[in-house]
Amino acid sequence: MKEVIQQLRGREILNARGKPTVEAELITSSGITVTASVPSGTSTGKYEAFELYDGGSRYEGCGTRKAAANISGEINDCLRGVALEDLRAIDQRICALDGTPNKSRLGGNALLAVSMAAARAGAAAAGVPLYRWLAGEQRKLRMPDLTATVIAGGAFSFSGLAFEDYILVLSGFEQFSDELEALVAIRRQLERDVRAKYGDFLEDGGAIAAPIASDGEAFEFMLEAARKAGFEANAALGLDVASSQMYSPEDDLYRFGKLPPQNREQLLETYLGLCREYPLRLIEDGFHEDDFEGFGMLKAAAPGIQVVGDDLFATNLARIRRGIQHDSANTLLLKMNQAGTITEAMDAGRFAQENGYDVIVSLRSGETTDDFAADLAVAVGARQIKAGSPVRAERNAKYNRLLKIQAQLES
Ligand code: PEP
Ligand code: CA
Repeated sequence: MKEVIQQLRGREILNARGKPTVEAELITSSGITVTASVPSGTSTGKYEAFELYDGGSRYEGCGTRKAAANISGEINDCLRGVALEDLRAIDQRICALDGTPNKSRLGGNALLAVSMAAARAGAAAAGVPLYRWLAGEQRKLRMPDLTATVIAGGAFSFSGLAFEDYILVLSGFEQFSDELEALVAIRRQLERDVRAKYGDFLEDGGAIAAPIASDGEAFEFMLEAARKAGFEANAALGLDVASSQMYSPEDDLYRFGKLPPQNREQLLETYLGLCREYPLRLIEDGFHEDDFEGFGMLKAAAPGIQVVGDDLFATNLARIRRGIQHDSANTLLLKMNQAGTITEAMDAGRFAQENGYDVIVSLRSGETTDDFAADLAVAVGARQIKAGSPVRAERNAKYNRLLKIQAQLES
């Protein structure tokens, strides 16, 4: 007999930042019970699926009781009795039920929780691991390399550094587990080195937010830590500029921390200067989220660099298509909650790959301990995962899941 959805329940839970998010619980016809919870971002792009919050005074307006009630109510009514074997059909149904282009009626957070839970239940009912079920039987699976933010700056940080994420870009390891071990070693060494110079520091999602003087100093700290840990040959650098946060459309200028205001051409020159001086191999959201042309200028001027679109693409097929037309980038940052369903997120990833792009599956700053993103990264054959510093439970949940997947793929 076909396994179908028997019941869906939504509930309000807290994410790792103490902000409410939604969890969906799904019970199948044979009694399998799964849960799934959704992450949320801080530097949220304007083209992302809508996150529904309650407003009012609870949790400073960020309660999720409405989103949870939409799961237990309308979505449950719509999906009860629906077969779990076809996630695309489930996702299409809930999108149609919502009826808006950006999922603003029922909430992208409600829809994604249901989509994740349905995938998890579908895999459990089929008796296969989630990554395999998502990928389909034919697709070749690969473990991702690691990109990890180890120093935090930008609009929401206490460090005073200009850019949002200072990223370690690792590669060249035999096995995922060796790469993770290296990441831990470099992160620990970095912590010792920064503490020796600046004393105790704050952290942001596990990334170090010390009053480091400049981008150059941040990069030197990272390279020195990699060298001392014995992984100099495996470590390159990346930046998530998150530049939409720093862009003023009124005068078409970018304002980063202590740097003087810059126009697009000056900012491009800043990046190229950093590329000449350091092994900078990845630049994410170097220009604001509507500047497809600026991205293209960087791509043309910096061959060999991963030019990554996060807010630019918002894990959205139409926006990726525009990026391809403008030759804007070569890498998609895939965040499942930007899309709002797993099918749409995977379609975006596959479309990008078919057009020669790499995919980085990325967590959000407001994560839960749900480890879905690990399975998703393997299922889409992502080149990398961006899962942060391995010193937080919500991040290590994904790393630990990847260790298990590696073991399963080897056996
Ligand atoms: C990111 O872009 O890597 C990121 C974590 O963004 P946000 O803070 O919006 O989740
Ligand atoms: Ca980003």
